[in-house]
Amino acid sequence: LRTLRLKDGGKANMGEHQSNQRMTHFLEWLRLAGNSDDVIDWAKVRARSLAVGALEKRDRCKLLLNVANGGAVSASEYNQLVGMPIARAPDNAKVPLNAARLQLLSSQLTHFLTASKQERLTMFETLRSVADAHTFLGPFDSTKAQRERPLIAENLSAGLVYSLQIIFDPRDEFASKLNRCHFSECNKFFFARPARGGVGRPSTRYCCLEHVKKGVLEQARIRMKRNRK
Ligand SMILES: [Zn+2]
Repeated sequence: LRTLRLKDGGKANMGEHQSNQRMTHFLEWLRLAGNSDDVIDWAKVRARSLAVGALEKRDRCKLLLNVANGGAVSASEYNQLVGMPIARAPDNAKVPLNAARLQLLSSQLTHFLTASKQERLTMFETLRSVADAHTFLGPFDSTKAQRERPLIAENLSAGLVYSLQIIFDPRDEFASKLNRCHFSECNKFFFARPARGGVGRPSTRYCCLEHVKKGVLEQARIRMKRNRK
């Protein structure tokens, strides 16, 4: 067999053969090492987690701000936050979220915006320890080489807390980009967009161009009123 392989495939085939053998050995050893199959149905976990798909960090953070701003998500977004197919609804139907939960989310973000560096660190560490206790990383499909490990959360709150601690993480890019729209009729949370054409300061006061215009007019009206008094 070895001669045949060398004849038609050369060294590469030998290497592959050896590595397959090593893998078989490893899997046999894994089976003997004791397992958690009687507690966790791994096949089910794997299949369901892969069905939902991993949420990329940036998309996860954006989704969290959408939730904080609007309070409704689609069934597939709900499932992505939890990491398991729980909600079933047509994708254009919105799943309403608990008002108290939204209030908490909004107040955390509001507080974070004006918090000192030390307070921010404390907020981040508190949320991270909650997230660590109620979420775990799911198996990923190695054949598709996904960039993010899918996250599985005990419930929606845990999924939201996990997402929030990414935004608060001082080592990441999101905390410094977090802002709240200054236009009084909006007040939505958003991540600062890069400056137009890559030059100048990034937009941190208003969430979109329309609100830049409306917000500037609003400020002018407020100034005029103040001056008249
Ligand atoms: Zn706005």
